Amino acid sequence: MTAHELHNMLVKKEISCADIAESVLSRINRVESKTNSYIRVEKEKMMEEAAAVDEYIGRGGRIGDFTGIPIAVKDNICTKDIITTCASRILKNYIPIYDATVIKKLKEQRYILTGKANMDEFAMGSSNENSYFGNVSNPWDTERVPGGSSGGPAASAAAGEAVCSIGSDTGGSIRQPASLCGVVGFKPTYGAVSRYGLIAFASSLDQIGPLTRDVEDCAGLLNVICGHDENDSTSINRKNPDFKSFLKDDVRNMRIGVPAELMVKEIDAEVKSTVNAALLKLEELGAKVEEISLPNLKYALSVYYIIAPSEASSNLSRFDGVRYGHRNKEAKTLREMYKKSRSEGFGDEVKRRIMIGTYCLSAGYYDAYYEKAQKVRTLIIDDFRKAFKKYDVLISPTSPTTAFKAGEKLDDPLTMYLSDICTIPVNLAGLPAVSIPVGLSPEGSLPIGLQVIGDILREDNVLKAAYNIERAVGFDKKPNIL
Ligand code: GLN
Repeated sequence: MTAHELHNMLVKKEISCADIAESVLSRINRVESKTNSYIRVEKEKMMEEAAAVDEYIGRGGRIGDFTGIPIAVKDNICTKDIITTCASRILKNYIPIYDATVIKKLKEQRYILTGKANMDEFAMGSSNENSYFGNVSNPWDTERVPGGSSGGPAASAAAGEAVCSIGSDTGGSIRQPASLCGVVGFKPTYGAVSRYGLIAFASSLDQIGPLTRDVEDCAGLLNVICGHDENDSTSINRKNPDFKSFLKDDVRNMRIGVPAELMVKEIDAEVKSTVNAALLKLEELGAKVEEISLPNLKYALSVYYIIAPSEASSNLSRFDGVRYGHRNKEAKTLREMYKKSRSEGFGDEVKRRIMIGTYCLSAGYYDAYYEKAQKVRTLIIDDFRKAFKKYDVLISPTSPTTAFKAGEKLDDPLTMYLSDICTIPVNLAGLPAVSIPVGLSPEGSLPIGLQVIGDILREDNVLKAAYNIERAVGFDKKPNIL
């Protein structure tokens, strides 16, 4: 069930928080050995907290939209007194002494933390095969990947191991796994959600956002987690709208652009045709759909794979064996200690990014790579700016393929990076975007996601389009694992 359905039952006293927690827990017990969605499940705490919330409600406490709702949190978001690993050996024993701002906000709602969800190490990856704590499997077909890097948040929400979840998205890490697992995943405008307490990957791209089973829950969670925070200097200072108020049944005259650069040959035919079918439905509802060109989008992947690793190489320098996490105990000198701690602590993909980033930022290469990438990033932002003068939203596939087999792209980082061809431009421009399931592939019965992109702070248009597509398409399939 969705959070809003459970919320209604809680309000009518047809169900207790303990009932909900128990049911989620029994699902976890049944399928977690197959999905590996979690790095850590908070079994006992979950039941304790549920009982405490029931007591609070019994005393006449206010029942917010997510009061008593079991939610999974990606393991790169700091939870006070609860190990937060970023799926890395280097942070295997890291216990944060504070809560991320999003956690604080969820606690104000009296949510129930199911556990810390699995992910690619430091959120680098598109398949959740880069976790120190093992791969996550896709609940639709356990031989396939759930996408990444929020593989755990997506798989847990899809398999009912949580009612919904919180992930992070630097280049597609909420939307791509949401697409591969058949759930809704929303990346808000850069700065709309505080990054305080999110372990940084690429600070100019990172955003926290929800993964849910429908668009209404997504809007509900945005209401909870968005908002200004003085602890994040990039946080936008605006009054939160009521995101749920945008869930209206009307797309008549909505102007929709379909960027040709996101419908390229790398996109599978079955993905294209499913997305096109959804666009036809929007046209039937009165929306105006046109193909457009954003010529600089074709450079987005190259730009991202310079900027993101550059920022990562700088951000990850704090993991030195002194201030945080894993330290090699045998080293005789300081330099050797750094070297060994980092060599042992980081996995291959993280090392690859640190090396690429260090190279791109080094004297003599900076101008040719990092600075050039920043300039092209501005061209991409300008392309979007122009497009949003004419269109309310842009629509594309979320991922070029459905869920691929585990191991299939592991030896070929470049093919893996292509998974984010449609999602990466959005982060470079700081835009809000959502992925919603719009069908199953005729071949493999695997979910296909559609991406709606909006202008800066135009979550209203994104939610409105997504809500209407959801209703028009009526995706109600359940993963095979159930
Ligand atoms: N898959 C992309 C990467 O590996 C995006 C990851 C993300 O959004 N965190 O960088």
